[in-house]
Amino acid sequence: MADRPTPRPGVLDIDLYVGGESRAVPHASLGRTVRLASNEGAFGPSPSARAAYLPVAEDLHRYPDGASADLRAAIARVHGLEADRVVVGHGSDELIANLIRAYAGPGDEVVHSAHGFLMYRISALAAGATPVAVPERNLTADIDAILAAVTPRTRLVFLANPNNPTGSVLPLDDVQRLQAGLPPPVVLVLDGAYAEYVNRNDYDPGIGLVESCPNVVMTRTFSKIHGLAALRLGWGYAPAPVVDALNRIRDPFNVSLAAQRAGLAAIEDTDFVDRCRRHNEIWRDWLAARLASLGLIVHPSAGNFVLADFGGRSDVTAVAATDGLRDRGILVRRVARYGLPRCLRISIGLEQEMAALTDAMAEILG
Ligand SMILES: *Cc1c(COP(=O)(O)O)cnc(C)c1O
Repeated sequence: MADRPTPRPGVLDIDLYVGGESRAVPHASLGRTVRLASNEGAFGPSPSARAAYLPVAEDLHRYPDGASADLRAAIARVHGLEADRVVVGHGSDELIANLIRAYAGPGDEVVHSAHGFLMYRISALAAGATPVAVPERNLTADIDAILAAVTPRTRLVFLANPNNPTGSVLPLDDVQRLQAGLPPPVVLVLDGAYAEYVNRNDYDPGIGLVESCPNVVMTRTFSKIHGLAALRLGWGYAPAPVVDALNRIRDPFNVSLAAQRAGLAAIEDTDFVDRCRRHNEIWRDWLAARLASLGLIVHPSAGNFVLADFGGRSDVTAVAATDGLRDRGILVRRVARYGLPRCLRISIGLEQEMAALTDAMAEILG
């Protein structure tokens, strides 16, 4: 008999998830820390989400609606979906974790691409399942390699499209080919956390696939373009039997009243979302061009961030640049944990923040 309690196999294999840094000195001319480390929406929440949030204080003694019915109906209305198949969660992280808990356990495999979002691995290990990382090509998920990695033990395949932290995106054709190549019992999860930012005609977040395939699930978040990361709110679209499984294992009140009210207002504020998207397109291109002109390799990104590679600069490392930026009151994200030790991920912020970042980077790079 062990002399103390021992976590289940897998739990101690989890490396703690370390979020983007949030504390540093204020930037000299902006008078506050410039936070570009967590892909949070540049404009914060929409004014209507803020207005919906404030009066929630009066109702803090009430349990929220466990079905989140009004919120799910609003999501369905705005995106043209069937409300019965819309699910919501405590961040899309909860949806990811519950999909794995519902469909995989010890001995089962959860496939993701090598530089894919870290929560797939963490949630697989937490469920006692085995994460399987599949090598990418040019920092992009490789459909053939993913299909070749599928075994009789595979239960789920995760694809972030666009992917974080690489910014790469796959056209609908490739996603369809992935779905078509998977055995019917394998769940394909399309993580569209950055879907709203994509401006390519060949892209589709997967709503049609969810409607036509019994094994495809799409997840989305309110943490990025909707600017509600603090509230922890995500949503998904899934076939009815998957929705049923998720409802059985989720917390009965998994989405707080504040998240339901602010989320509803946020999803209906499509003008705000459009404005954020247009800002992102302009400044993502601007930032990529400026960083390239400073000698960095910038990978094309479809999200609200860019991935800058210091491989071309033998004199300044990604670590030194992170430290130099932090000393100047600017936070960006190191991505060594994602297998990208020479890269930094930089979120798209406001115009002054982008100027502050590139000015500081120019100083650091000499
Ligand atoms: C930010 C992000 C999420 C969102 O997580 P939340 O729990 O909804 O905040 C999901 N997937 C990817 C790939 C992300 O980058």
